[in-house]
Amino acid sequence: MEIQKQTLYVVATPLGNLEDLSQRATQVLHQADFVACEDTRSSRKLLDKIGSQAPTIPYHEHNEKQTAAHLADKIEAGASAAMISDAGTPNISDPGFRLVRECRRRGINVVPVPGPCALVTALCASGLPTNAFFYAGFLPPKSAARKKFLEAHKDFTHSIVLYESCHRIVAFAEEMCEVLGNERTVCIARELTKLHETFLTGSAAEVCVRLKAGSQKGEFVVIIAPNDYTL
Ligand code: SAM
Repeated sequence: MEIQKQTLYVVATPLGNLEDLSQRATQVLHQADFVACEDTRSSRKLLDKIGSQAPTIPYHEHNEKQTAAHLADKIEAGASAAMISDAGTPNISDPGFRLVRECRRRGINVVPVPGPCALVTALCASGLPTNAFFYAGFLPPKSAARKKFLEAHKDFTHSIVLYESCHRIVAFAEEMCEVLGNERTVCIARELTKLHETFLTGSAAEVCVRLKAGSQKGEFVVIIAPNDYTL
């Protein structure tokens, strides 16, 4: 496969297990004139592992605004570019939106190269309903704001998927018990595709106890089932 010039490729990279990098992603990362990366040092490691010498350009939440137009200029001038984030799919709770929007505004070709995404990875193995769901991203860091969100979505009729940091996961598990009730079915997925991958699925109270009993290190996805759902 030969990649196209004047094109932005939005490339998903592994969440942890390098074998999840697709063949197509590998080819794009080899052939791109440059790779826009959230963290150039960690992305360089990935590129080195697959033997890609493509130059990297930093593109992260702090420079996204200024850099998007500059990168779009380069693509418009003829470059083929890949955009990756530290893990998973760019633009999903990660930088990427501004560059994609800029390219779309200018009529530049944007091609997704799909692959790992933590929310889908967690949901598909959770045992909670998947036919329709609401992805809420990261909730606010303050407990009161998180509880307000839970109150407002208490009777939501589809699964709710969200990302939570290891520093707040226990507090959030307790908040789910408090606001949604001990019996609400939830799933907490940790360290997906990595050595210590763990799925805690059950009632909020039970999951909270199991969470506290295990390691709370690493990365977490939380899924809340609709009100009337039991596993
Ligand atoms: N763009 C990424 C994606 O496609 O999922 C998400 C990036 S966001 C900055 C990082 C958050 O995603 C983590 O805090 C965690 O909630 C979730 N996440 C990423 N990798 C994960 C993993 N291996 N296991 C569980 N959650 C993960």
